[in-house]
Amino acid sequence: MLYNIVTYGCQMNVHESEKIAGILEEMGYENTEDREKADIVVFNTCAIREGAENRAFGNIGALKQSKKQNKNKIIIVCGCMTQQKQVADYVFKTFPFVDIVLGTHNLFMLKSLIERKQKEKKRILDYMESGDIHEGINAYRTSGDNAWVNIMYGCNNFCTYCIVPYVRGREKSRSKEDILNEVKEVISTNNYKTITLLGQNVNSYGNDDKQQGTFAELLDDICKIDGDFKLTFMTSHPKDLSDGLIEVMKNNDKIIKEIHLPVQSGSNKILKAMNRHYTVEHYLELIDKLRKAMPNIRITTDIIVGFPGETDEDFMSTCELVKKVKYDGIFAFMYSKRSGTVAEKMPDQIEDCEKNRRVNYLLDLEKEIKSQKRD
Ligand code: SF4
Repeated sequence: MLYNIVTYGCQMNVHESEKIAGILEEMGYENTEDREKADIVVFNTCAIREGAENRAFGNIGALKQSKKQNKNKIIIVCGCMTQQKQVADYVFKTFPFVDIVLGTHNLFMLKSLIERKQKEKKRILDYMESGDIHEGINAYRTSGDNAWVNIMYGCNNFCTYCIVPYVRGREKSRSKEDILNEVKEVISTNNYKTITLLGQNVNSYGNDDKQQGTFAELLDDICKIDGDFKLTFMTSHPKDLSDGLIEVMKNNDKIIKEIHLPVQSGSNKILKAMNRHYTVEHYLELIDKLRKAMPNIRITTDIIVGFPGETDEDFMSTCELVKKVKYDGIFAFMYSKRSGTVAEKMPDQIEDCEKNRRVNYLLDLEKEIKSQKRD
């Protein structure tokens, strides 16, 4: 019996697919790259960008024929896209050959939903508006010598362009004990060289449950675990990056000296419109502190180009910031509307051709800075 998982989106989703694989492996299924041959196909979807949604719809539709040829094939759609009730309903109605539709909060029920489908032969749409953390799902890890470990779920930040807080819900931190146990298990039973801690905003770990301590304390405790491993994390929101965290990074050899610190824009007006809760000046102060503490630290960022209301002047402020920071890597995105977000309805949306011009300008600037750094 074979399964195939199609994953869209971020590292959180890649790791979620490892948990889906863990559930299916425990049920006796084996992985195949051949979607046509698979007895179970799971689409683990992403809601961040329209492009990923459209690709998912296209790929789900393409399985119609394969389902006709093998009536026992089980097609499952889950993840952030179908954690939105209206999208779950749409998928269930539009693709009658899809057997099970569920979201992110009820993923822990996957095994029982598959068994119910096999027994009752009826299609299932299972939706949970919110959910708790469910421990005990063993990930079937597929990311080489790197092991992903979730430390929290959800997000409280409501950046005006982002759908995540509406889909994943508010921040929930895993217990420190569960995280330490998972890290110990991964290090002792496998040959993982790197542990990557995951969360939408790892810096706010423990804010929802003070008993767990801070993110800096968690890192410090993980570093005390015996073993030859390196530790890294993503993603860090600049507003929550503490001096304590910088100290812990500096003082622990196990922590890789790198940080992904999304700035999104170099204009205070646009940062305010994005609801990011920091200024360019504060961000530059953080960069300064990080580099003073760790002179060779590798710093990367995300930048959104063409956010509603972004003037040429705002964009040039972003370019100025990029010149100052001299990043080791930039992930530049053209702003794209997500329905259900605040920014979707903002005035002064920027034309695609202008966004395109700005993003290319930024990427050229990045290349120029990188080549100067190499010289
Ligand atoms: S911090 Fe902002 S961009 Fe990141 S997940 Fe939360 S709302 Fe989205």
